[in-house]
Amino acid sequence: MNINHHLDEATLMSYSAGSLSQGMALVVAAHLSYCSECRERARLSDAVGGVLLESLEEQSVADDMLASILSQLDQSPPDLADQQPVRTPPSFIDPEIPAPLREYVDGSLDQLPWKRIVPGVAYYDMPWEGRGVSRLLRIAPGKSMLTHTHHGNELTLVLRGSFSDEVGRFQVGDIADLDDQIEHQPLVDSQEDCICLIATDAPLRFTTLFGKLVQPMTGF
Ligand SMILES: [Zn+2]
Repeated sequence: MNINHHLDEATLMSYSAGSLSQGMALVVAAHLSYCSECRERARLSDAVGGVLLESLEEQSVADDMLASILSQLDQSPPDLADQQPVRTPPSFIDPEIPAPLREYVDGSLDQLPWKRIVPGVAYYDMPWEGRGVSRLLRIAPGKSMLTHTHHGNELTLVLRGSFSDEVGRFQVGDIADLDDQIEHQPLVDSQEDCICLIATDAPLRFTTLFGKLVQPMTGF
């Protein structure tokens, strides 16, 4: 896989610190499953975070806290088998679906119950509530997504096809890691539908009248 667009440093640090929304963390994990370059950067970012945490802990852990932690270790652990739902492994693994996403997508991308927004544009929401948006977006060749800006950050990972926008061309494995300075209108330039996993940490702001009209219906 030839990846040209990567995660930015701030996003990787937030991922290491565990401060991303669930949807954004999923997009980051999915890109890392494709991209050895960002995996190496994430490993370094984890190491830096770990050193910072250690230096903080050395100063702040009191003796009685340590005793309390040790006494908790002596207690028998809860029976995890009773608490965790049993997951049946999928009978078929679709290579088009990055590993972190497989937990939420049974079967293939084509089998999902896509909801159409307008002709040529459909979406499938990730099954959780939370801050921002987390969904798969499917756009037909030659179509574009509505022009929008963001209150916060937006991550878009290409799973199938490709698109181009003001930033460049994005193909399978590429991630668009955009902040709130950018107004863009991605146009699908592949022969097949373009399917992306997207997440924001705040609602999108559409800049056209049509976008503003459909916004309440789609939850964007
Ligand atoms: Zn990367």
